[in-house]
Amino acid sequence: MIGKRCARQKSFSGNVNGAPRLKSPGITSMASKQLSPHFSYDELTTTELRQFIELNRGMGVNHIPQLKKVCVDLLEPIRAKWGPVIIHSGYRCPDLNKAVGSSNRSQHLLGQAADFHVLGRRNGPPLRDVWAWIWQESELLFHQVIWEMSSWIHISSTTGYNDGQIMDYNNFKYTKYKNVNGLLKPY
Ligand SMILES: [Zn+2]
Repeated sequence: MIGKRCARQKSFSGNVNGAPRLKSPGITSMASKQLSPHFSYDELTTTELRQFIELNRGMGVNHIPQLKKVCVDLLEPIRAKWGPVIIHSGYRCPDLNKAVGSSNRSQHLLGQAADFHVLGRRNGPPLRDVWAWIWQESELLFHQVIWEMSSWIHISSTTGYNDGQIMDYNNFKYTKYKNVNGLLKPY
C-alpha cells in the first residue's frame, strides 16, 4: 500500500538462505523450520533490533502461510536467478514494526512482504538490476516491488490480485511507475 514505508536499516542480521544460526529459546520447534527449499522461518522473522527477536518469532507463527507464499512465489525465483538472498526484514510484529518507524498498514505486519538484498549486490546499481529484472523480465506475480533508499528491495504479495505496482522510495517520498513495454513511466 502506498504510504507504508520501510524503515531504514543500516545493517542486517539475516542468515544466508536456509542456514539458521540463531535459535530463540521457547520456540525451538520453529527455529529451524523451512518455509521453502532455501528460506527458513528464522530468516523471515529476523531483525537487527535484537530486543524484539523473540517476540517477533513468537508472533510470526500466526503468519506462516503468508510467509511461505512470499518465499515460494517471489524469493525462490529471485534466488534461482541471482543467487543467495539476504533478508533484512520479513514478518514484523506490531511492536517491532512501530520501533522501525513503519506504517500500521505495512504488509510486513501480515507476513506478506520481505526486504532484501542479494549476496554481492548490497547497494546501488548492482542491486537495482535485480529490482529492474523483477518488474521488467521476471513475470513474477507481486503486489509491490519498491527500490528503497537505493539500499534494498521491498517485495510483497497479497492474497488477492497481485497487480505489479512498481515504486521507488527516496527522501521520504514514494514514486509510482508503470511498466510500458519494459520502460518505467510515471504512474
Ligand atoms: Zn519492506
